[in-house]
Amino acid sequence: MSTDSRQPAPTGPRMKPWIEAIHAYVPGKSAGADGKPLVKLSANENPLGTSQKALAARGGAAGPAVYPDPDSKALRAKIGEIHGLDPARIVCGTGSDEILNLAAQAFAGPGDEIIHVRYGFAVYDIATRRCGATPVVAPDRDYGTDVDALLACVTGNTRAVFVANPNNPTGRYIGAEEMARLHAGLPADVLLVIDQAYGEYLAEGEDDGGIALARAHDNVLVTRTFSKIYGLAGERIGWGFAAPGIVDALNRIRGPFNVTLSGQAAALAALDDQDFVRQSRQANAASRARFVSEVESLGNHGLSAVKSEANFVLVLFGGALSAEAAQDAIAAAGYAVRHLPGQGLPHALRITIGTDAQMDDIVAALRDAAKAAS
Ligand SMILES: *Cc1c(COP(=O)(O)O)cnc(C)c1O
Repeated sequence: MSTDSRQPAPTGPRMKPWIEAIHAYVPGKSAGADGKPLVKLSANENPLGTSQKALAARGGAAGPAVYPDPDSKALRAKIGEIHGLDPARIVCGTGSDEILNLAAQAFAGPGDEIIHVRYGFAVYDIATRRCGATPVVAPDRDYGTDVDALLACVTGNTRAVFVANPNNPTGRYIGAEEMARLHAGLPADVLLVIDQAYGEYLAEGEDDGGIALARAHDNVLVTRTFSKIYGLAGERIGWGFAAPGIVDALNRIRGPFNVTLSGQAAALAALDDQDFVRQSRQANAASRARFVSEVESLGNHGLSAVKSEANFVLVLFGGALSAEAAQDAIAAAGYAVRHLPGQGLPHALRITIGTDAQMDDIVAALRDAAKAAS
């Protein structure tokens, strides 16, 4: 018997080594281990659903036999109008994920480095490796973005820095002063990607200054999405705003018909329903505050909540109740939440803010499990 345990030499095409190093993105679960469907508080979707106006417009879009507008012209014009931006400096994508991947691909390759913060968005590592570049992970500060740590990672090989603000999965946020300091510390040829996927959840008037930086400088890209507060995750629509040189690069390599017909129609109408956005923001802020205070009331069991400005909360488990056991208890109550041991967070669960009734179920499950564990 052979003692050689090596795999046989593979036949067929070989993956590039940097593709082989990628751990595929793990989406939020929607079913338990037994296949039983769970209420999904694992993907930061909007518990209020979608604007009725957006749903109507999506249903009224022309049939799928025709290609969509390759340039999402009407949608870019509407985004420009709502946000006060030049539509020529906006690029739409198949979700903001496409924009993030294009940004890495357009400006980095083998031998280059892209920096992101520890406990950052999982897509940054994938986008970096996909183009053959090397991810560089900066230490966090209390689960948030540490500007000094990011700047300390910059080398002559750095091509881009990715920052989600608010950050996913931690919910932490840095203000305009810190963001400006980060930008000011970067060489002019390093791209700063400011991912504002949760920007609409910030308190009214709060702004990290990303758009202003992108307006004034040639090395800043701000990304936004229709997947979160706009309740259109299933349509896959995002956008980026940057200087003409960056937008030109992204347009060269994006999918030519990258935003669907129904998606463009729905997103246009969703932008016109800012009442829905406001209502979603207010409901989230109230439910989040209520949930955080309930988690804090379990502090004697080792539970705590990382301060969040988004539509989810990272709950830390430092006592007898482990994050895994808590996740099981929450699943038994019918809910899916996110455990991210692969991202260095074995002691935490990211829980999307649902309706108050849903959060009451989560709190009850946590309380019972904490008592049972102690
Ligand atoms: C959800 C999310 C996105 C948005 O992804 P889409 O592709 O637009 O659905 C981008 N960045 C972060 C940090 C997110 O959490």
